[in-house]
Amino acid sequence: MTSATLPDVRGKLTANAPLAPLVWFKAGGNAQWLFEPKDVDDLCAFLAALDPQVPVMALGLGSNLIVRDGGVPGVVVRLGKAFAGVSRTDALTLDCGGGASGVLVSSTARDAGIAGLEFLRSIPGTVGGFVRMNGGAYGGEVKDILVDCDVVLRSGQRVTLPVADLHYTYRHSYLPEGAIVAGARFRGKPGEPAAIQAEMDRISASREASQPLRSKTGGSTFKNPAGHKAWELVDKAGCRGLELGGAQVSEKHTNFLINTGEATSTEIEALGEEVRRRVRETQGVELEWEIQRVGKA
Ligand SMILES: Cc1cc2nc3c(=O)[nH]c(=O)nc-3n(C[C@H](O)[C@H](O)[C@H](O)COP(=O)(O)OP(=O)(O)OC[C@H]3O[C@@H](n4cnc5c(N)ncnc54)[C@H](O)[C@@H]3O)c2cc1C
Repeated sequence: MTSATLPDVRGKLTANAPLAPLVWFKAGGNAQWLFEPKDVDDLCAFLAALDPQVPVMALGLGSNLIVRDGGVPGVVVRLGKAFAGVSRTDALTLDCGGGASGVLVSSTARDAGIAGLEFLRSIPGTVGGFVRMNGGAYGGEVKDILVDCDVVLRSGQRVTLPVADLHYTYRHSYLPEGAIVAGARFRGKPGEPAAIQAEMDRISASREASQPLRSKTGGSTFKNPAGHKAWELVDKAGCRGLELGGAQVSEKHTNFLINTGEATSTEIEALGEEVRRRVRETQGVELEWEIQRVGKA
């Protein structure tokens, strides 16, 4: 696939773009093409004209992602400035761009006196990633606050999906393959800005105490299996601090994997598989990856 075979764009198209600097693990290969659309019309026109065989995936802050070392074939779409805004549409609803951060959404909610969105303060991702992953923390989940979202389908068609159409379950949505969340409406309940800020501070402090926030990591590695906590299973399997090459199971939170320096994605993923094997052998429980693993090994 050369630039001559790709549709014209108003945004930025980069061939063979390194993804490691764009993801939290700071590891992994290149995108065959990285597309940063100028605006939603640019995104729609590009996808409509792109050969339907070419795979497309969205990238947020890469906070829940292992990009394999062989890179990602096709087009990786990263939403920039035009998608990063948050504005209020009524007393309790925020209209958020798909690339807006959890910090911006939660602080805008606080200023508007909208409670119930505080948990987004602690999830280091974008609205698109939250909607795709049904992000949640401290008792809140995206499925509880999402009204609807604007999605650009792989065909380039723009649709608005109400929350029911995403059929949310724990850390999972039925967003169609190759679809990009360009925006979302979140609704909360009336609250006092000072009380909302206090709740955000409580959440931040609790995070700081329990998670390796300043490390190269990918957040929770495995989903909590029904009736279990993933971190407890990993701990009981004796994996706390376990190392493989430059990858390590966090000492601070055993459901986090860490790149201690120069780990490859192959090492990080292999360590995760080793943890799954040890948990299966010692406790008979099958851990399921929460981190999305993309690209070629
Ligand atoms: C320190 C740390 C703490 C974390 N704590 C939590 C937590 O408490 N709760 C929680 O739920 N998660 C947590 N995470 C994981 C992560 O922050 C969330 O999964 C977040 O929703 C990912 O958002 P992102 O924009 O970075 O998505 P990425 O990691 O870039 O991508 C994740 C998935 O979402 C898709 N995606 C991204 N943007 C879009 C878009 N615009 N349209 C369609 N699909 C898209 C990607 O293709 C991929 O499949 C944590 C991560 C870290 C590093």
